Amino acid sequence: MAYTGSVPDAAPHRYDWMEYAACSDERAVFDDPTRVHEARIICVARCTVRSQCLAFTKSTERGLHRDRRDGVAAGLTHDERHRLDDTAAHRADDGPLIPLNGAERCGTHLALVRHLWLDEPIDSKCWTREVARARSNRSLPVVEAS
Ligand code: SF4
Ligand SMILES: [Zn+2]
Repeated sequence: MAYTGSVPDAAPHRYDWMEYAACSDERAVFDDPTRVHEARIICVARCTVRSQCLAFTKSTERGLHRDRRDGVAAGLTHDERHRLDDTAAHRADDGPLIPLNGAERCGTHLALVRHLWLDEPIDSKCWTREVARARSNRSLPVVEAS
């Protein structure tokens, strides 16, 4: 076959998972900084590509200061992601690093953050607490963690 000057793109696109991102239909929630609990719930309960999103977010944001991170991604706020990344630049007026040691008690915010950051399953204690926090902001339908 004669060379045509182009290379067929037979490999799956590296970011094909983004087509399935649940946030793409929920910009009003994800763009509103007062609705972070709702955004987190969408990530956990409705998004089938949260693991891919987490890996992508960790690699693209690694080392960045909080000011250069945006909104909720993979169920974590920009501030949480900054404080969980021990390679990131930290200024004196930033919140402290979030220390995870595996002993975080389920039902606490730290445990939920650990589950999300380490891509662990989210148990009912951590989930119920987060849904309650979201409900205290807005009326939400009951949803199950995926
Ligand atoms: S996990 Fe990532 S891709 Fe999925 S809804 Fe959340 S921010 Fe969007
Ligand atoms: Zn838990």
